[in-house]
Amino acid sequence: MTSTEPVAPITTDDYAARMRRVVADASAAGLGGLLITPGPDLVWLTGYQPTAITERMTMLVLVPDQEPTLLVPTLERPDAEGAVGAPALSIVDWPDGADPFARAATLIPGTATLGIADSAWALHLLGLQDALPQTSYRSLTTSLPMLRAVKDAQELARLAAAGAAADATYEQILGVRFAGRRETEVAADLARLLREFGHEQVDFTVVGSGPNGANPHHEAGERTIEVGDAVVLDFGGLMHGYGSDTSRTVCVGEPTAEIREVHEIVRLAQQAGVDAVRPGIACQEVDRAARRLITEAGYGEQFIHRTGHGIGTTTHEPPYMIEGEEQPLVPGMCFSVEPGIYLAGRFGVRIEDIVTVTEDGGRRLNNTGRELRVVE
Ligand code: ZN
Ligand code: ZN
Ligand code: ZN
Repeated sequence: MTSTEPVAPITTDDYAARMRRVVADASAAGLGGLLITPGPDLVWLTGYQPTAITERMTMLVLVPDQEPTLLVPTLERPDAEGAVGAPALSIVDWPDGADPFARAATLIPGTATLGIADSAWALHLLGLQDALPQTSYRSLTTSLPMLRAVKDAQELARLAAAGAAADATYEQILGVRFAGRRETEVAADLARLLREFGHEQVDFTVVGSGPNGANPHHEAGERTIEVGDAVVLDFGGLMHGYGSDTSRTVCVGEPTAEIREVHEIVRLAQQAGVDAVRPGIACQEVDRAARRLITEAGYGEQFIHRTGHGIGTTTHEPPYMIEGEEQPLVPGMCFSVEPGIYLAGRFGVRIEDIVTVTEDGGRRLNNTGRELRVVE
């Protein structure tokens, strides 16, 4: 099975190249440097993921014409040195009890405008502002929204493996009992299967039965699933550090004509969204393609969220498939196409695949059947 195939390693050279590109992108965006604290950007740039979030400051400082420097608490230096990207970095540690901001101030141009990771603690940003009163700061995601959006071959292989594992999970969940069990029990089955098929982290296991399916943010609750329910399943997490995220809607026993009809509209809308994907079109065109079908069928008001989001080292990131997003699609981008219809108090339907942009179109990384399946 594809989900257990080995994936090519991401090497020190790969991390070095990412850091070089990011510094160039930052300069082009008018920034004097980037400050990256623990989170998905640090993992993507260096392979370093500190074991626990700590109040002690860890920060990668990327400044043009300066060696990439990772500032770490002394006690975490050995962990940092073990990261694959470490040989491409200079590691500077600060001893417990010392002032990390004074240390950081020696690495940062004192009058620069800097991009800072969205996940940076306010505590750390405030400390930097005190130590360097002439600096100013911008959100990294606002300044460089497409920083991690275009995936390279190693990343695509990981996303494809995560997608195949999520697909295997769906195939297995079709065989479990739904009727008479609580949503949380089916959600636990999904989590167990994702891990069995290779995920190291499960991020969400939505089981929205009957009226709960009409709330796109419902996860799983104590409701007992009944015969006749439509059930929205939406699950994913990380495998080899890269995300999966897929949705299918099943029916417990024979579906009503209305469930069939709504499901078919969503299926066709999802297909239209995927068919729209090709290099050069704006993200909003994917949203428009999916939304048009749903609106024409009379359910426009019941499609209450954007059509999709990017995926990579996190399960939600730019680019977003939403009206107003004019960013053109680029080969290597990966994102969800997940239209839905939500009938408040009754049921919901969502169908979601991860799609990657190819040279001449789009390729799905989720490939299970999208027809309405009956479960027991
Ligand atoms: Zn999802
Ligand atoms: Zn999604
Ligand atoms: Zn989501």
